[in-house]
Amino acid sequence: MDNPEILYMVVPCYNEEAVLNETASQLKAKYISLIERKLISPESRVVFVNDGSKDKTWSMIQELHSSDPDFFSGIDLAHNSGHQNAVLAGLMTVKDICDMAITMDADLQDDINTIDAMVEKYYEGNQVVYGVRSARDTDTFFKKFTAEGFYKFMKVMGADVVYNHADFRLMSKRVLQELAGFKEVNLFLRGMVPLIGFQSCNVYYERHERFAGESKYPLKKMLAFAVNGITSFSTKPLKLITTLGFIMSLASICAFIWAFIAKIGGFSEHGWSSTMCSIWLIGGLQLLCLGIIGEYVGKIYAEVKQRPRYIIADFINKKDNS
Ligand code: UDP
Ligand code: MG
Repeated sequence: MDNPEILYMVVPCYNEEAVLNETASQLKAKYISLIERKLISPESRVVFVNDGSKDKTWSMIQELHSSDPDFFSGIDLAHNSGHQNAVLAGLMTVKDICDMAITMDADLQDDINTIDAMVEKYYEGNQVVYGVRSARDTDTFFKKFTAEGFYKFMKVMGADVVYNHADFRLMSKRVLQELAGFKEVNLFLRGMVPLIGFQSCNVYYERHERFAGESKYPLKKMLAFAVNGITSFSTKPLKLITTLGFIMSLASICAFIWAFIAKIGGFSEHGWSSTMCSIWLIGGLQLLCLGIIGEYVGKIYAEVKQRPRYIIADFINKKDNS
């Protein structure tokens, strides 16, 4: 490659002091080899986004930057904004100074050696390269089961996401510029990027176990993420309510006919239980429907406020004089 392009890695970090130095040294080694192979420009950087960590993460990022400004940059968010917002903050900060950006978790679960293939695919003309995990052997049964269920459920619910792809992906400058036009507050990047379009492809990798530290995605957060993904991307739940209402109406007509026949036949009983059952059934259904509608109302509420999705307190980055 005569004119290698600038790659920025965006790595969100929330309380990652246990892995940060290892991640940094592995990424640096990777960058050195990519620069030697003339696949990326020496102006390429790794940007660690500190998502309001309570531990030493930010001071470690500052140290990395001051000892190795040619490789490491840092963004400090004013408070914990969540993984998706941290990734977006990083991407929007680098979109004008890079040619391509790769987002990757800080815990080394994503295989760093996949970066080569991603960059090569970029030069083949792909604007988006999705990192897709080929196996889930390292996951606990529970994580595997919930994660696979998540992708299947998302699809059934009408939010089209790339199967087994998390947030390990390469995006070109062009795609980042378009992503900047998505103003939604409820971020679900996995759903948003496919919406942008352009030529894309997958590269496959084996996902490792977390190198050190604990998962910051407990079940509660994962469920919230799934609900957010569905309600931000599809109105299918609303359509399901209509279908449910339709079926209920049909059923009630049948029940009415049955009651009428029973009355005429003289074998009806003035039942207390059936009345109670229907009250519970209708009450339950109404609550369910209200709940789903409430989800959307909550979304509208958050969107109309148009609050900033993240606040950057600091950006440390060495600029080359070119
Ligand atoms: N993360 C973040 N903000 C948060 C939670 C997580 O920036 O509020 C980062 C975290 O540091 C990691 C990535 O998001 O780099 C994925 O988190 P984690 O590995 O804990 O999730 P899991 O892989 O267990 O789903
Ligand atoms: Mg992880």
